[in-house]
Amino acid sequence: MENVVIIGSGCAGLTAAIYAARANLKPVVLDGHEPGGQLSLTTHVENFPGFPEGIMGPELIENMRKQAQKFGAEFKAGTVTEVDLTGHPYKVIVGKDVYQTRTVIVASGASARLLELKGERELIGHGVSTCATCDGYFFRGKPIAVVGGGDSAMEEANFLSRYASKVYLIHRRKEFRASKIMVDRVLANPKVDIITPYIVQEIKAPEGLVKGIRAEQAITHESRHIDLDGVFVAIGHIPNSVVFRGKLDMDHDGYLIARHGTLTKIPGVFIAGDVQDHRYRQAVTAAGSGCMAALDAEKFLEEHKD
Ligand code: NAP
Repeated sequence: MENVVIIGSGCAGLTAAIYAARANLKPVVLDGHEPGGQLSLTTHVENFPGFPEGIMGPELIENMRKQAQKFGAEFKAGTVTEVDLTGHPYKVIVGKDVYQTRTVIVASGASARLLELKGERELIGHGVSTCATCDGYFFRGKPIAVVGGGDSAMEEANFLSRYASKVYLIHRRKEFRASKIMVDRVLANPKVDIITPYIVQEIKAPEGLVKGIRAEQAITHESRHIDLDGVFVAIGHIPNSVVFRGKLDMDHDGYLIARHGTLTKIPGVFIAGDVQDHRYRQAVTAAGSGCMAALDAEKFLEEHKD
């Protein structure tokens, strides 16, 4: 029987692990399908407090992992296939392995939706990005594209126009899903060139660095080539919450709904990080909520001593 099983090893899960391990709870961390979470997919992180020179995302996450291990957190590979939260102890199932636990911290994160183009995933950190606030600074004075038609795409296009020499906003339809105010801001931005309805068909990176894209007009199928140095994919995120469907409260997009911080409707089950946050999505906010979840789990265990 475990005290705490932490689902996910991104910023939220690892921070929860550090706190729970330091509280002598010997947490078990289940790595998930993307160990290290979204930070492991980024390059230089310049806005995580405490690193005036910045730090590489994978290094930051590896440091957190070591810090959690130092205090006794145990890491297990594998992705959760099922959870049984109907009775105590809770059961977290990873294939054939069943973990019985007094408390669960769900920090399974969200994965940025990608265009699913050839080579796209491998080019993350080499010109393809899913995070304008993380990577925008690297594209000072360079032309870039933002793909998407929602509020995130509008926000990113405006934000990136501070750095980039030009921002091509490419969207598959003529109409935008984004709110009018966000669209109006982009329309008024002289650095943003709107390209609709176009579907990105290819990311060109002849030497492993993005150099351009090929997009196709959705109706006429006419091809257009654009030289640029960066492609920001802003077509939404997918919270990793499928196994909790029908078990924990979630909104219509699948984001788990937290109550009073990290609590859920099930006592002893806590949630943290991007799986419950479609608004801030920052490493430091995920870390903060991971800390809160661990403190809540610790308090719960203290109040429910056998
Ligand atoms: P979203 O609203 O779901 O928009 C996703 C966009 O990506 C849509 O325009 C969609 O096109 C496009 N898209 C999806 N899959 C695609 C694909 N395979 N290829 C090409 N395009 C694709 O996502 P979001 O913009 O990340 O926003 C998520 C939520 O956060 C929303 O509720 C939003 O209002 C909120 N948000 C708010 C703010 C703010 O208010 N400051 C900022 C960011 C986000 P279609 O339109 O054709 O489906």
